[in-house]
Amino acid sequence: MRSHNNDTTPRRHIVIGGGIVGLATALTLRLEGHEVTLLERDTPGHGASLGNAGTFATYAITPLAQPALLRQTPHLLTSRDSPFHLRWRHLPRLLPWLLRFVAEARPARVRHNIEHLNHLMARADADWQRLLVAADAESLMTRRGCLYTYQTHAAWEQAAQEHEMLGQNGIDYRVLNEHQTADLEPALAGKVKGSIWYPEASHVADPLMLCERLRRAFETLGGTVHTSCDVEQVSVHGADVMVSSSIGQTVCDHAVITAGIGTRQLARKLGDQMPLEAERGYHLEYPMDTPLLQRPCCIAEHGFYMTPMAGRLRVAGTVELGRASDPANPARYRYLERVMSKLFPELGAPATYWMGCRPSLPDTLPIIGASKRTCKVHYGVGHGHLGLTLAAATGALIQADIYSKPPEWLAALSIDRFR
Ligand SMILES: Cc1cc2nc3c(=O)[nH]c(=O)nc-3n(C[C@H](O)[C@H](O)[C@H](O)COP(=O)(O)OP(=O)(O)OC[C@H]3O[C@@H](n4cnc5c(N)ncnc54)[C@H](O)[C@@H]3O)c2cc1C
Repeated sequence: MRSHNNDTTPRRHIVIGGGIVGLATALTLRLEGHEVTLLERDTPGHGASLGNAGTFATYAITPLAQPALLRQTPHLLTSRDSPFHLRWRHLPRLLPWLLRFVAEARPARVRHNIEHLNHLMARADADWQRLLVAADAESLMTRRGCLYTYQTHAAWEQAAQEHEMLGQNGIDYRVLNEHQTADLEPALAGKVKGSIWYPEASHVADPLMLCERLRRAFETLGGTVHTSCDVEQVSVHGADVMVSSSIGQTVCDHAVITAGIGTRQLARKLGDQMPLEAERGYHLEYPMDTPLLQRPCCIAEHGFYMTPMAGRLRVAGTVELGRASDPANPARYRYLERVMSKLFPELGAPATYWMGCRPSLPDTLPIIGASKRTCKVHYGVGHGHLGLTLAAATGALIQADIYSKPPEWLAALSIDRFR
């Protein structure tokens, strides 16, 4: 067991990777008075964090690996109209991740993963409020809930049954029929058979703008950002942590690796293995002055959200398992366009096409905690579909793990769970 120093003396930190998780972590540490430098290979906020669906999904305590999903897999893999796609030539490399994913669908594992997602979600909102105030970004967040909609009665009724578990775990939701759904979202009238409404959920007007506000607050408070800085290796030398990058070598007392899908390689060089894979996701954007929808609406059977954002509707989601560095797959854009043109033919062609990589672990839980090798390096990675929702909680938990007393359940999110 690695010991925590519990010493509150301000230290020199380097945060590697300026996505939403790295930015939230850097700002959290800076707010506590520590010296913090953020190193980013590209421009902060331009990885997966740029293109997400913008939903603070605090209701999402259901892990992806579920017996029901496994039952649907043959259909999901073979249908042209599937929100899921596997790039078969990468199967040999993906197989270990997929086998772990299947193992996570055992009932005891599902219960364990729900419990820990629930711990994270219970604090996600409060942790975000603190950072939104610090970043003067409260106006970017709107709380009008989120709708999961269903296009058949059967799918809606089944979802309502499955949601009983959420209620038992304290998640507020309402089951709405076709008419109640249309009362909330008139544009969906006649297009869906029912929905589940999560009234507590909120969404962001622009995920990139949120990243930029976090960065601005961090720099205003005296934090340093180096862009175009590709980190090659993190190593420990006595009391120091050495970070080698394209701008040279930098020494600090402690490093936090929040490099999204790039974390796996840095971890491996440090001696840590983690089953991190890219769940590639896609988005399209339709410019519009008057919002079509008032809140994020997920078309559950098609695996994507439609989220009203500043000056546009973003249609974001679906999952493609493959290699992070492969170019975007045009067939996945066509899939989203096909479904959208059936639902809202009046929208015409989208103006923006985007693909990005969710950094995902097979149990739907992130790694938040120290390296197996040293308590001088922490990870905040593997948030999959929930990185926006959980970024502020991740920063606060890393801060607590280094400097104070973290909650006991945090141990279950450590990298130690992967052998
Ligand atoms: C289509 C889609 C929809 C989504 N919808 C939602 C949603 O509604 N709600 C939600 O909560 N989540 C959602 N997500 C998930 C969420 O976007 C991700 O979990 C989150 O963005 C991950 O953030 P991150 O900071 O870990 O990674 P990233 O945003 O990818 O940031 C990692 C950063 O590290 C940098 N980096 C990598 N390697 C190095 C290196 N060696 N040196 C220096 N820098 C490096 C990268 O350049 C990048 O900027 C969605 C994702 C997708 C793709």
